[in-house]
This record gives sequence, structure tokens and C-alpha cells, in this order.
Amino acid sequence: MERTQVRVAWAILILLGLGAATHLTAAEPPKPIAKRPLIAIRGVYGGVPTQIFDRGESLDDYGINAIWIGSGSVTRELVAELTARSKPPRIFVEFNTMHDASYLKDHPDARPKGADGKVSPPPEGWQGVCPTHPGYRRDRMEAFRRVVSAAPIAGVWLDYHHAQASWEQPHPDLPDTCFCDRCLALFQEQTRIQLPDEPTPARARRILGSHKSAWTQWRCDVFTDWVREFREIIDQERPGALLGSFHCPWSESDFDGALRTKLAIDLKAQARYLDVFSIMPYHARFGHAADPGWISRQTAALGRYLGVKGEPDERIKIWPIVQLSDWGEKIPVSQVKEVLDHGTRAPATGVMVFVWGSLHSRWDKVQAMREFYRAIRPDT
Ligand SMILES: [Zn+2]
Repeated sequence: MERTQVRVAWAILILLGLGAATHLTAAEPPKPIAKRPLIAIRGVYGGVPTQIFDRGESLDDYGINAIWIGSGSVTRELVAELTARSKPPRIFVEFNTMHDASYLKDHPDARPKGADGKVSPPPEGWQGVCPTHPGYRRDRMEAFRRVVSAAPIAGVWLDYHHAQASWEQPHPDLPDTCFCDRCLALFQEQTRIQLPDEPTPARARRILGSHKSAWTQWRCDVFTDWVREFREIIDQERPGALLGSFHCPWSESDFDGALRTKLAIDLKAQARYLDVFSIMPYHARFGHAADPGWISRQTAALGRYLGVKGEPDERIKIWPIVQLSDWGEKIPVSQVKEVLDHGTRAPATGVMVFVWGSLHSRWDKVQAMREFYRAIRPDT
């Protein structure tokens, strides 16, 4: 760099510095965070936060009163160990309902079929399973019963309960499935719609054409009936434990109605069996990195849709899971409190953060979360 260039560069730096200083002087002092007594759950998703224990601190020191861990890692010993601590967290478990790909190794007939009648390749590796495969359903229900019985947990969250699709991105990949012989036979039997005896591609064209609304409702009903059975099991094995679901944050009109037509999620029908809806408004991942307000807008829309206001005595609760870890776009530490602010607005009565496994490597964000959680809790 020549001398003139150096001088110009210094001048720019000084101006930038002055600008920043002026901005700092003019900035409003940060508003104190108000208590939010209606927020009953301040959670962390994605593992036991042992890094907090390693520092000689407690979850309560961080304002955390609930954790979500994988169904494979929950044991009676772990729950006992966590419960023995002072102010123990409520322990929830997530359960893989519709993407247990390992099942397909020995059961290739459970692979979802596309509209061409062939095996539908998993979009971006997201492998789903045919929802009417009786062996798969039995396998999942037995596994669910084992998880619920294994330890005194506070509840189980379905993850994810929808048809094969890769939707966790700004431009989702949503194939039409499942057109296997079993699904087509059940569709005809249960809707009394008789399809002509012709090859699957021709039948699929009819289904996605004149029978689309009956097909959409039938698929939704299949997935809802799984939720009914999960509810039955939880009521038998651990009455009082909650049944929740991590679900796609779209409204019924987003992406041309894909929530129902592609994912086969009928939230209103599932509401008969679910206690908690954990909408997943991962703003940075889904193309809203600079707009955390999208989180509270999606949550508010869900509340209007389900008729949930966020009052303490409502049967159905909405606890969003909000994104603090970098995925898609990065989330700066300066945005953490804003994200949590939007995640804890009515009708939400609880919140959890995604995802401890990577969040703990950014302790500055953990500290920001801590400040927010401690500030909003009603008991201090
Ligand atoms: Zn099928």
C-alpha cells in the first residue's frame, strides 16, 4: 500500500470510529427485560447441558427449568441423577416417529413410493417411511411404549410426524408420496373411491387431480391416527405426562397448502390428542435471518388457527422451539434476546432453544440466553 493510500485508509477508519462512537452515544439504553409470568417453560433442546454442571453451576442459575433429550439417551438413572439436583428440570424426550430409516434395511417394502410407482428417493437424504406399513407402525408404537415406560419423564415430543419431505430450508423439497399398493388399496377402501384398474402412474394422476382433496384428507387422517395411538399409550403407561410435537411452522396456506397436501399434517385434528404444539420457527434457517419478528408472527398465527390465546388454564399449549445456533444463516449474539423475546410472546406459554449440542460452543450466546431466562422468570 502506498503512503497516500495509507492516509486515506486511516481517514476512513477514523471516520468509521467516530460514526460508531456517535451511534453509541445516541443509542437508547437497553430496556430492562420484563418478567413474563405466563411463560412456564424456559427450556433447552438437544441434550443434557453438562457444560453448565462442569462449571459448578446449576440449570437454575441459567433460568432453565426444562430440557429435551433424545429417546435413546433417557434412562431411569439419568432422570434420577437430574432429579436429585436442586430445582430439577422437567425432562422431556423426543421420539422419532416417521423417519426411522434403519427399519428399511430389513423392510424395503416400507419405502415410500412416488407418483411414478417407484421408490421415492429421500429428498436431500431425508428418508421417510410409508405411513400405512403395519410392521413399521407396530415397531414405532412398541418403541414409544418402551420410552414412556423407561423412566419418570414429564412428556414425549413427536419428531417429526409427517410424510417424507425435506422442508427445513427456505426452498423445501416436497415429493408426493406414498403411492404403494397398500396405501392405494386403503385409500379406496376407506374413502369408497374406486380407482380404475390401471398402472400406478395413471392412478396417481387421478388422485392428484380430481381426488386431491379426498386424498389429502385421507393422508392427514392416517397421520392423525398415529397421534391418537401415541396418546393412548402415554395415557396407559404414564398418565399425566405430556404429548407434544415438533412441527413445521407453516400455515395452511404457505407453500400452496403443503402442510396438509404434502406433509399430511392436520394440526386441528391432532389437537384432540396433543397437549403441546412446539412450532419450529427457525428464522435464520428458513430465510428470515434479519426478521426475528417472523417467530412471533408464526406463533400468533398458530394460536389463532388453533384458538389458543396463551392463558394458563388452556388445555392446549404452544411452546415454540427457537433457533439460537447457527444453521443456514448465522445468528449473532446481539440477536439472542430478540429471538427469545419473540419466542415468548403470547400465545406462547413456554419456549425452548435449538440446539444445545452446538450452542454450548458459543458461551456468549449461552450467557445472553441466561440473562433473558433469568429476567423473565416470575420467582426472582
Ligand atoms: Zn405406502
